[in-house]
Amino acid sequence: MTEDASAKKGLAAIKGTRDILPGEVEKWQALEGLARTTFELYGFRELRAPVFEATELFEKGTGSTSDVVTKEMYTFTDKGGRSITLRPEYTPSVARAIIEHRLDLEGAPMRYYYMGPMFRYDKPQKGRYRQFHQVDIEVFGEKDAAVDAEIIEMAHALLDKLGVTGTETLVNSVGCRACRPAYGAALREAAAKRKDELCADCQRKAETNPLRIFDCKVDACREAAASFPSIQDYLCEECREHFGKLLDGLDVLKIPYRVDPRLVRGLDYYTKTTFEIVASGLGAQNALLGGGRYDDMMKDFGGPDICGTGFAMGIERVLAVAALAPPERKILYLAYLGDKAKKAGLELARFFRANGVECLVEYKDRGMKAHFGRANKLQAAWVLIVGDNELRSGRFGLKDMASGRQFDGPREDLLALILKR
Ligand code: AMP
Repeated sequence: MTEDASAKKGLAAIKGTRDILPGEVEKWQALEGLARTTFELYGFRELRAPVFEATELFEKGTGSTSDVVTKEMYTFTDKGGRSITLRPEYTPSVARAIIEHRLDLEGAPMRYYYMGPMFRYDKPQKGRYRQFHQVDIEVFGEKDAAVDAEIIEMAHALLDKLGVTGTETLVNSVGCRACRPAYGAALREAAAKRKDELCADCQRKAETNPLRIFDCKVDACREAAASFPSIQDYLCEECREHFGKLLDGLDVLKIPYRVDPRLVRGLDYYTKTTFEIVASGLGAQNALLGGGRYDDMMKDFGGPDICGTGFAMGIERVLAVAALAPPERKILYLAYLGDKAKKAGLELARFFRANGVECLVEYKDRGMKAHFGRANKLQAAWVLIVGDNELRSGRFGLKDMASGRQFDGPREDLLALILKR
């Protein structure tokens, strides 16, 4: 059925979502496994939070003027009349969980990681989905810029394991509540001068939150924004020093970077550090991951005054440039002949599986030729032949499909042979 035809029948996946099928899913599993082992080397532990939360959490956390909150949230009223939102990002959920379970009492820093779906009502396009997946890491309770450098290095360690090459690391500081107001005023003034060139959305942002103009993808707005003052000229002493320490840390870790003073990231909560790792060859949606510091989020939620830093990596984006070899499957196909062998096959299959061999039995009665045809189609590495004679003697035939060689022996010997290859 064509996409249109199935859509008319109401059977197609919702626009902006997609199925991840066998053949592709192995890469996801590999990425998830590598992420887990990498993060755990740095002392991170997994924290799983719900897929939906109170809408207010994201309004307060992600920020009421960010595009994510103003335009992209999947918000609905549940049967109890509460406003619910499918999480568009993960950080506010972690902050909430820390406050709710007083995880801070276990002592800082707290390091968490998570992988799962996020939801944004964004315009679907290549590299941009409405249900997409992120690998997310958070460190709460560590002020030192060294940890910002460490998590950037951790991101690179993971990308290296995934075979991602040709990346660039962009870093910036967006200041703090002490120095950003002066920068905001300078931006507002600059934006006012070029107001006529800005899109309607940015004209509004020029008044509400001019920093958000840097998120706009409209060419004219980008051009205008290129002439706006640089935040780097407005950082207070503390933020300047923090940024210097971040760059020192990156130098020590030998991570090449480029300072990009327009890198403000699309969420309202960032303070001081922001960063992105971008990939060449991905077109417009080239950010593999992005993150930064959010030192005020926890306090703004009414929780303890604990700073935070972290990043979110887009799984779809990373897999588009990762070089992951599909894992090798070694299938043992069990070909039985007759009813008795079919029954005995169940137990034989259990024996091989219990010993770590992927074993397939199909219950449609087939002749030997049809069994081999099917085994070929499944790309089985081995075929185990089970018939009346084999059952009587306790010796089975095993064919190595690649070489065509046939072996004969009790199941323990055949198992040893399979495991040896
Ligand atoms: P953000 O949470 O906006 O900072 O995004 C972090 C990362 O998530 C980005 O660098 C992308 O790799 C990925 N990402 C964000 N939005 C989408 C989307 N709509 N579709 C696919 N990946 C996304």
